[in-house]
Amino acid sequence: MRLIIMGPPGAGKGTQAKTIAGHFGIPAISTGDIFRANVSAGTPLGVEAKRFMDAGEYVPDEITNLMVRNRIDEEDAVPGFLLDGYPRTLQQVEELDGMIAFTGHSLDTVLVLAVDDEELVQRLLQRAQSEGRADDTEEVIRRRQELYNEQTAPLIDVYRERGLLLEVDGMGEVDDVTERLFEALATVHES
Ligand code: AMP
Repeated sequence: MRLIIMGPPGAGKGTQAKTIAGHFGIPAISTGDIFRANVSAGTPLGVEAKRFMDAGEYVPDEITNLMVRNRIDEEDAVPGFLLDGYPRTLQQVEELDGMIAFTGHSLDTVLVLAVDDEELVQRLLQRAQSEGRADDTEEVIRRRQELYNEQTAPLIDVYRERGLLLEVDGMGEVDDVTERLFEALATVHES
């Protein structure tokens, strides 16, 4: 099973991705988490990515695509995966299409979490306090939202046209959102 979870920064993608992936026995692959792990370990990839992440900019497609290609080639991702935070640009959509086609499979579903702007800002400011992420300052948050609206939100239409989109209300409690996601998935998958 090959899934994507999308949504604006602060929509709760990471939390939901782990639960859904756990349920289906597939890895949740978060490009943000992989970048952060590389930053912590001080790898060349981390050093390169950090410049962009700290400014709230997207890491260039060539770097991100190669990283995802290597990750989904790993053994645990052979039966499937749930991508969290990738693709974020049209170019990444094309690259991912190629990667999946190469394995002879296809994308099953694209989940989108819909959350209104006011709740997003509140959640991000809360996360800034609890997790202390370097990119959760107000200025950087604003830039990440702007980039999402400009470059990533248009991907929703691409996947809608392909008939792959499942849009779910991401407002409210984590457990309620999880329940909505599983209900939506049950309409297209035996689970
Ligand atoms: P996230 O944890 O998904 O919010 O990602 C944190 C940061 O990592 C983003 O603000 C970007 O700088 C970078 N990043 C994560 N995924 C991607 C991607 N698919 N393309 C470009 N940059 C990314």
